[in-house]
Amino acid sequence: MKNPFPHSRFQSLPRHLVPGVVLGLCLLLSLAVTLLLQSNARARDQARFENVVQATSDRIHRRLDSYEALLRGTSGLFATQREVTPSEFSEYVGLLQVQVHYPGIQGVGFTRRLSPEDRPVLEAWARTQAGLLDFRVWPEDYTEQLHSIILLEPRDERNQAALGFNMYSEPTRREAMGRARDTGMPALSGKVTLKQEIDERKQAGFLLYVPVFKGGCLPPTVEGRREALVGFVYSPFRAEDLLNGIFGTEQHPRVAFQLYDGEQVAPERQLYSSHEPEALSDKPMLTTTTTLTVAGRPWTLTFATLPAFEQTASGGMVAPFAVLGVLVSLALFGLTLAQGRARGDAERSAQRLLVALTERARVEEQLREADRRKDDFLAMLAHELRNPLAPVLTAVQLMARKQQAGQDIERERDVVERQVHHMRRLVDDLLDVSRVTRGKIHLQRRPLELVGAVGRALEAARPFAESRQHTLRVELPQGPVWTEADPVRLEQVLSNLLHNAAKYSEPGGRITLTLSREAGEAVVRVADTGMGIPSEALPHLFDPFMQVARTLDRAQGGLGLGLTLVKQLVEMHGGRVEVVSEGVGRGSVFTVRLPLLSADRVPAQPVDARPEPEAPSRSRRVLVVDDNVDAAELLAEVLELDGHEVSIAHDGVTALERVGTFAPDVVFLDIGLPGMDGYEVARRLRERLGALTPKVVAVTGYGQAGDRQRSREAGFDAHLVKPAELDTVRALVTATDPAPRPRPGQPGDSRGSDTWFGENS
Ligand code: ADP
Repeated sequence: MKNPFPHSRFQSLPRHLVPGVVLGLCLLLSLAVTLLLQSNARARDQARFENVVQATSDRIHRRLDSYEALLRGTSGLFATQREVTPSEFSEYVGLLQVQVHYPGIQGVGFTRRLSPEDRPVLEAWARTQAGLLDFRVWPEDYTEQLHSIILLEPRDERNQAALGFNMYSEPTRREAMGRARDTGMPALSGKVTLKQEIDERKQAGFLLYVPVFKGGCLPPTVEGRREALVGFVYSPFRAEDLLNGIFGTEQHPRVAFQLYDGEQVAPERQLYSSHEPEALSDKPMLTTTTTLTVAGRPWTLTFATLPAFEQTASGGMVAPFAVLGVLVSLALFGLTLAQGRARGDAERSAQRLLVALTERARVEEQLREADRRKDDFLAMLAHELRNPLAPVLTAVQLMARKQQAGQDIERERDVVERQVHHMRRLVDDLLDVSRVTRGKIHLQRRPLELVGAVGRALEAARPFAESRQHTLRVELPQGPVWTEADPVRLEQVLSNLLHNAAKYSEPGGRITLTLSREAGEAVVRVADTGMGIPSEALPHLFDPFMQVARTLDRAQGGLGLGLTLVKQLVEMHGGRVEVVSEGVGRGSVFTVRLPLLSADRVPAQPVDARPEPEAPSRSRRVLVVDDNVDAAELLAEVLELDGHEVSIAHDGVTALERVGTFAPDVVFLDIGLPGMDGYEVARRLRERLGALTPKVVAVTGYGQAGDRQRSREAGFDAHLVKPAELDTVRALVTATDPAPRPRPGQPGDSRGSDTWFGENS
């Protein structure tokens, strides 16, 4: 049958590996996608971070550029005007609206270069012209150049604290001022603490200087610039105020940065930190350091991601995806596994179904065959049973004629006897096979000497063999051969084989029976020189109803049951039977093997000899009751020929009367009588006569164990199945006492041995 499940794309893969391969592929795919996502996420995070870094640097740079521009503009004011009064300056800065437009700047100022000798003049000018009554230049001990703070707007408290301070006295500021002067460019100072820091907590600070040269022109040489320098426009910055001014409240929540003066990252150089130290990550995901140069001074910026950045990092999505990938892989694995199992189950079921269908087809074929064989058998049975009737009828008619003519009827009588024997044999085989099949035959096994048994079977077969002009030979071993067997059944087996040998050999054949001992077994071989058996028939030869080359004329007769019975009986004895034939026309050999009896069980005397039937001695009175007039009269005739006195009755009532008048020693009583049946007759006889009841023998067509049991219970002494063997009938009569006598105990106890309820075949 075609496989109902077409191959999958994994067809070249063993099925049990598919789930593993699916799992492996899915995990690999998940890993690849995870890695790709991870690298994308990293790149995205990096870009995000760099954006923040760039934007921060740019904003710082732009803001300081704008302050630089502011100071450059302011420097123009001083370069073009010889003198700017404090009030003009204040007005100018006021117009700039520094606090509004330039947040984070501490102030805008101007310092004129003076020599130390000008100090008293300056102080006097400040006190009178600028209205700074307490003005003084400080520190007093610095005597090189004088760059005191006078003009510084707005005039708030912090800026007032710085008034008078000579910025040139302090090295960091001096360096920036010198650079601005020499380069003619704006210059940013290093980190300082402004004089404006009047609070406890001081911020880092720095200053931006823009040089002002005479006439507003930039001399080409350093000497020229030093010569032409008028002073500096400048702004002091408080770093925190400045950067908070730049970024305001929108401090970046995910990236922290620190600003350092110079190119070194060192705590003492730090100008600003965007976050408190405790808010920073111990191990930030991303960090970077960048430098920018503001007004000739390098600044270093360090950046680091904050926990908030790491939480929202795209990489965070990768782990759940990886877990999802593994889960999906496992789910697919489970699915494939379940599907594989389901498919395996389905295939197994289909296989079982296929086997069941094949088996069913086989059984159906067997049933059809059995049915056909049964039909054949019934046809054959009818034929076989009718077959002997023709010669019987002819013989009987001939007998009548010959008797009238006073001729001898010996031949016709022989014909009738032979045909009846043949019919009985057929019916017996049929019943026996059925009983063996239903387990109804019980062997009466006992130690049996086979030389004697073989001899008896040979004698039984001899008449038939001789009628077909066969030579019968026997080969026996030295000494007795013991086995354990039912003598009746064993003889049945052997006569069956001998009968077949004679039947299936052309007249004038040779039949050899050999008895031997072989390897712990007793072996009986029946060989013939007959028609042989074709090899294809040999395996089925022992099957019921098996007949080789059944011909229409059915010259050989038989129902095809003899060998079945042989096999069943031999096997019931623990033995086996085989057949060998060289082929058609070359004879056959049937071999029966039986277990040998162990030496310790061999009896001292042979026990298989049957008692010879006793010869009739005295005359008995016999009542024959049968509604079949022929059967009754024939039996009466036989018994009368033996010298007995016989009376006949054809129904139960007459039989009861006749017992009273005739006083028989033995009654042969048919059971199927019209009106009162045989059981009732027997029961009434017992009732009426009690211990004086004669021996009552049931004669019936029913021979099952149940029938025998029933007749025993009805008070019969013996049970014979029709057609009864005449020898058995005679033996029963002669074994009966001539006159009725009291019987002790139960009916049948004294004479009716159980064997009379056994099989009388
Ligand atoms: P029956 O003789 O009633 O047909 P059996 O069971 O005794 O049935 O035998 C079955 C068949 O085996 C016979 O019909 C016959 O074809 C074949 N057979 C049996 N014995 C012999 C033999 N000795 N030689 C050839 N054929 C035999």
